[in-house]
Amino acid sequence: MRGIVFDIDDTLYCRQDMLVKAAETVLGVTVPDWREFIRIFYEKSDINMAALESGEISTHDINGWRYNETFQILGLPYSSTDGGDAADVYLELQSHMELSQEMMKALDAFASDPGIKLAILTAGESAHQWNKVGMLGLDRWFDRSNIIVTGDTPFSKPDIRLCRMIEDRLGLKPDDLWMIGDNYDKDITAAIDAGWHSVWINRRDLPEPARLPDIEVRTDDELTSVLLTGLN
Ligand SMILES: [Mg+2]
Repeated sequence: MRGIVFDIDDTLYCRQDMLVKAAETVLGVTVPDWREFIRIFYEKSDINMAALESGEISTHDINGWRYNETFQILGLPYSSTDGGDAADVYLELQSHMELSQEMMKALDAFASDPGIKLAILTAGESAHQWNKVGMLGLDRWFDRSNIIVTGDTPFSKPDIRLCRMIEDRLGLKPDDLWMIGDNYDKDITAAIDAGWHSVWINRRDLPEPARLPDIEVRTDDELTSVLLTGLN
């Protein structure tokens, strides 16, 4: 028996494209370097994650702040309300988001395999992340009791107690588990520390870390082909 544990954002669906598109829509410009935009936006995302998970700040407000900080650092032309407007556009884009056909195929294959158990470990505010579970239709493949949102726990990624919670829920040992995630510092270090296998989706071509995941992919196509054939 194997357990396959997915992160949601930038793993089951590509969030980065929507974040950049929302900024471009509001500012009326093309972001010159999307990798740099995402790097700064995500660096800002780490700052207030605990307050977000505890519900002190809303996802909308924090995204507005992250956008304005990113606009400022990149020297993009913006006014103080643009961050909030971009957060609105981003939420609107998210309400139409869906999984790729290839990802659905991979999940269908896993869900029909009696030797595989599926789970989700996602970071963020409880209501916001559960809303994504609904919008993406993830109930079709994932049992709700096997979905952990960090906002519902006292822990933040990469605390390995989250991995222990998943092991308990699935009734599996560390060596039977695979973490699939895009964030090296949050998803992959937790998996390595917990003794799990891992697949790192390195979309932004970040440099090779000291401790390597079992498998590294760079694109969605590579990810789904690894999921369909490569987790042994
Ligand atoms: Mg992610």
